[in-house]
Amino acid sequence: MIEPEHKLAPNFTFGELATTSHTSLIPSLRAEASKEPIIGRLRMLAELLQGVRGLIGAPMRVTSGYRSVALNRAIGGSSRRSQHMTGSAADFVCPKGPPLDEVFAVIVQAMRDGSLPYPVGQVINERSGGAHWIHISLANREGDPGGQVMTYDGRRYRRVERIQQPHPALQPVPVQRDDD
Ligand SMILES: [Zn+2]
Repeated sequence: MIEPEHKLAPNFTFGELATTSHTSLIPSLRAEASKEPIIGRLRMLAELLQGVRGLIGAPMRVTSGYRSVALNRAIGGSSRRSQHMTGSAADFVCPKGPPLDEVFAVIVQAMRDGSLPYPVGQVINERSGGAHWIHISLANREGDPGGQVMTYDGRRYRRVERIQQPHPALQPVPVQRDDD
C-alpha cells in the first residue's frame, strides 16, 4: 500500500487523490488505488494537475479523485461510467487562487496550445447547490481523443466545444471497461 504522503507530483500526494469524507472507506479506497492500473493513471493525473498548477501559480485543493465502486455507491447519483472510477479524473477548487472561471479559461487555452503534460479528456466547469468546482480528466478512453469543454449547472451537462489538442491522445491504458 502506498503511503498517503507519497508524492505523485511535486504538489500532489497519493493521499490527496485517494480520499473521501466517507472516512470508513478510505483504507479500502487506498488499497485499490495502490495497484495498477489505477496508480499508473493517478500518477498521470497528478502530473496533469501539476501542469495546471504551474499555469495558474496557485495551490489547488482536490475535492475528489479516485472513486472505488464502493465509494461511488456511497456517494450516490454519480455515473457508473465516471472517469473518477478509473483514476483518470479529479475535481478541484482553488480557495487561494484566481476565480475558478479564470482557471477554467486558462485550462481551455492550454488545451489549445498543447501546454499541459497530457491531453485533457474533459474539462467541466461545474456548479451545483452553491458549490463551484472544476472536473478535469485524462484523455485515455479507448478511441476517444478527448478535448471536451463542458459546463454543468447542477442539472445538466452542456458541451461548449471540442478542442483538437495538438498532442495525440494517450495510448489506451488496459482497463476493465468502465462502460458496457
Ligand atoms: Zn468529477
